[in-house]
Amino acid sequence: MNAPEAVVFIRQHLIDPEICIRCNTCEETCPVDAITHDDRNYVVDSAICNGCGNCVSPCPTGSIDHWHPVPQSAAYTLVEQFGWDELPPVSEADAAAATQAVSVPPGDPDQPRADARGMPADYQPNAASSLSSNIPPWSAAPAQINLAGLKSPAMATVAGNYRLTAETVDSDIHHIVLDFGGQAFPVLEGQSIGILPPGTDAAGRPHYMRLYSIASPRTGEREGYNNLALTVKRVVTDHAGLPARGVASNYLCDLTKGETVQVVGPFGSTYLMPNHPDANLLMICTGTGAAPMRAMTEHRRRLQAAGQPASGRLMLFFGARNQQELPYFGPLLKLPDAFIDRHFAFSRLPDAPRTYVQDRLREAGPEVAALLRGDSYLYVCGLKGMEAGVMDALAAVCAQHAIDWPTLQAAMVQEGRFHVETY
Ligand code: NAP
Repeated sequence: MNAPEAVVFIRQHLIDPEICIRCNTCEETCPVDAITHDDRNYVVDSAICNGCGNCVSPCPTGSIDHWHPVPQSAAYTLVEQFGWDELPPVSEADAAAATQAVSVPPGDPDQPRADARGMPADYQPNAASSLSSNIPPWSAAPAQINLAGLKSPAMATVAGNYRLTAETVDSDIHHIVLDFGGQAFPVLEGQSIGILPPGTDAAGRPHYMRLYSIASPRTGEREGYNNLALTVKRVVTDHAGLPARGVASNYLCDLTKGETVQVVGPFGSTYLMPNHPDANLLMICTGTGAAPMRAMTEHRRRLQAAGQPASGRLMLFFGARNQQELPYFGPLLKLPDAFIDRHFAFSRLPDAPRTYVQDRLREAGPEVAALLRGDSYLYVCGLKGMEAGVMDALAAVCAQHAIDWPTLQAAMVQEGRFHVETY
């Protein structure tokens, strides 16, 4: 008599559609092209995914990090995943059976076994090859996360909505202040919140959550108030430049004082600022990527105003098409030079060559190198496209100043001193 065939279990890699912000980072990161998307969900092809985990650390929300034990023969198909509004529950029977059964990591049955997290045994969450630290600075205040979930969002009231950019330019960027009244919603600089736009999409399903970085310090947009600010650009074109109305950005930019907004979060426990006063901050941003930099700068400014000045330096590289499109240009100019070293890069000035933040980094090479040699924390936020140019510029600056960039970068990543958030 033949023995019954053993059921082979896999830990199927899945993406939580309730949390995913559809930023495309995972699809771009996946080295084997196992991740794809339709107009609603990002999904993982279990026949291709090898569980390498490269996509896990860059994901800004953690929605990527789900591994369900399922019989290999019953793995969720792409069509099933495209139809989900939430992850299916883990079957208790499958979970129990998987511990007894033959288990293989996702994809290739010849690969080594997965570890307890469902990741390959040699996966290192703090691997220096990752571009961004997945730990916070050692002195960062502990971040609260997931205080308000999708099923019980916090209700915030719009306390103000101001256009930041000149009326004469197309770019419509708003500073939006949300007040949480009596609801506890503590946040730190560098964290994000999710906004649930009201209404439904073309398929009649509720709009999914969109993530925005907080632009105000931990003490509130108005100091001592339970409120926070966002920096939101009205989206009027798609990635190809064709007319398209961004659901959440238009909703937010059109809000009027007194309206209520459903908020989820806060999110983010690594892109945080150090609390020790001698830490230097090297901040590099484009456009609305200025949000976390404004929050961190304002926190330091308030400390100074309260008689607790930090000895660490603030150095900011900020890119926009021109000064009329650069959010917070006026307030930034008012800050004393001794408080912050500002470098603006304008890309579309008449009669001037296109200048990007990476060009300014190169120009300020000696100062950048001096900062990198010290107890410095790097923050990059903004367009995905700036990443490569910024990294090249930092490498070039280091090469000119006898700094071993690969070693320094790896150390900064490992030590929670290298934070990159781009979309
Ligand atoms: P933008 O106005 O499109 O661009 C800002 C500047 O960056 C422009 O001068 C642009 O120059 C320049 N730029 C374009 N390509 C570049 C490159 N490869 N390297 C360096 N600079 C480059 O920016 P935006 O529309 O505000 O977008 C900012 C990004 O930040 C968005 O992707 C947004 O999702 C993201 N973000 C926003 C938040 C938030 O909370 N609001 C948080 C995190 C990230 P040219 O256009 O002249 O080429």
